[in-house]
Amino acid sequence: MKETLRILLAGMSVLLLSFIISPSVDAHEGSTYGVGTSSLNVRSGPTDNAPIVGSLHPGDQVVVFEEHYGWAQTYYGGKEAWVASQFLYPLSSTEQIKQQVSVNKSITVNEAGVHVRSGPGTDYSIIGLATAGDTYEKIATKGDWHKILLDDGSTGWIAAWLTDGYTAENSTDESLKITPKSNTNGSLAGINIVLDPGHGGNDPGAIGFKGVVEKNLTLSTAEVVASSLRKAGATVKVTRQSDQYVSLEKRVLFSNKFQTDAFISLHYNAYPFIAVNGIGTYYYENGRGLASSIQSAIGKQVKLNDRGIHFGNYHVLRENSDLAVLIELGFITNPNDLFTIQTSEYQNNVAQAVTTGVKNYFLD
Ligand SMILES: [Zn+2]
Repeated sequence: MKETLRILLAGMSVLLLSFIISPSVDAHEGSTYGVGTSSLNVRSGPTDNAPIVGSLHPGDQVVVFEEHYGWAQTYYGGKEAWVASQFLYPLSSTEQIKQQVSVNKSITVNEAGVHVRSGPGTDYSIIGLATAGDTYEKIATKGDWHKILLDDGSTGWIAAWLTDGYTAENSTDESLKITPKSNTNGSLAGINIVLDPGHGGNDPGAIGFKGVVEKNLTLSTAEVVASSLRKAGATVKVTRQSDQYVSLEKRVLFSNKFQTDAFISLHYNAYPFIAVNGIGTYYYENGRGLASSIQSAIGKQVKLNDRGIHFGNYHVLRENSDLAVLIELGFITNPNDLFTIQTSEYQNNVAQAVTTGVKNYFLD
């Protein structure tokens, strides 16, 4: 009995220690791995007999969102998929940087009704249609063909001669631009905000008690926050308005395409340890002041535990050339947080606090 108790206590102290060391627990962004075998089956579930939905080869990169008994969860063709994690190896930072640089290159389609194909040539099958003005991230180029990232997270090929180079700076499409900043006499008029409801579509985000999914909460919160910011005079754009998948790269490109004064990503958190609770705001480089202003307004207006501001190495912050912050608006794995989060009073308080935080930052 005594021995069992000691083992139990030892186990508990390890749990507590890992909680203290790593209070930043939103693991939704995923880590990038390389494929270390000549052909790796991609399956629809985390077992050997789940149907094969595709295969990966050396040189392919896999973003892993969670690991489960030797299986790594990723997305394939926009759908949740699993690969045996023993065949994956972590990529060195230089390899990952190479990927980030190539991901940042965008191309714009010049013609209406351009085919998106499964491979680099007209003899490959047509898998979609693009039209003039559509913008995609270019992943690779082979001959006269660009490999592009599609909205659902899958990839396709497009004829390079039907596209053009594109950078946010030389964009001449006035309709893409938010009203330029004018003056600020007590209102947020002239301040352009991009709100980013986390996750969506095939990416549910965190799963909380009673099957509550993060992607639905972030979307409804974004609506309330957007309305509050608009009432205060700000111009607000959102990265998604429905339950659709939008890649992290697309979210950043969306923000950088506009004259964005602040990009605010909204998330809800999860942790295996149900006692973990509260709200925190994250910044990467330039967002510290705004994060602090928003978090302090939240601390005054909202009753949940104030977790303060933290450095957060999230894609939407790190790759963003605009001022950017990410708010984790409570733990949906904590019963009290979840109960509070689901009240309209909480949603309104968060909206007011974000608006106050933005005002204090831009107008003071
Ligand atoms: Zn999230």
